[in-house]
Amino acid sequence: MDESSFILGVDLDGVVGDFYGAMRKIAAEWLNKAEESLTAEVSFGLDEWGINEFGGYDRLHRFAVTQRHLFREMIPIKDAPATLRKLSNRGVRIRIITHRLFLKYSHETSVTQTVEWLANYDIPYRDICFMNDKAAVGAHVYIDDAPQNIKELRSGGHNTIIFSNSTNKGLAGPRADSWAQAEHIILEAMEEWRTGTMNLFRTPSQAGV
Ligand SMILES: [Mg+2]
Repeated sequence: MDESSFILGVDLDGVVGDFYGAMRKIAAEWLNKAEESLTAEVSFGLDEWGINEFGGYDRLHRFAVTQRHLFREMIPIKDAPATLRKLSNRGVRIRIITHRLFLKYSHETSVTQTVEWLANYDIPYRDICFMNDKAAVGAHVYIDDAPQNIKELRSGGHNTIIFSNSTNKGLAGPRADSWAQAEHIILEAMEEWRTGTMNLFRTPSQAGV
């Protein structure tokens, strides 16, 4: 891995963009239900909203992206763009890693909406990777919300900060409940990286997972 700068691997949905908030609005329309009737306390896959009898997650997700421009219209998570600007300014190399291409046949739409959204909110990044295997993309520290990603990254020995939401309750830290907390953990980790002592959460056992 390039050791000339400290690389932060940043997930987008549920970490920088309010994916679940945006999906709740779109799902309410799609399901023909009141938004308030859909719990905000979802788990990964949105089973709580009863989407299966309407065609399931993939169909809803396709509608959201191709017809409601999910990746362009999503609201950022509070403080995320500004904090990423501060981190970038402090020398953190921001590497966005997202699995948004899991939607087949709409890659152009997914990529275009994503880069337009990043520009619209002035979210800085040096690299952007559309991949599922996040560990294959080197980063010194990752920040992610999806339980499966967090577990896989950690089991490979990768430093991973959980960005808290209802889908990842119960997983042991390090975790950030806000971008203010994330900023603190990331800057601390960068300092440790600089001095060659970064082992705060190097392995799952050390992280208490
Ligand atoms: Mg995510």
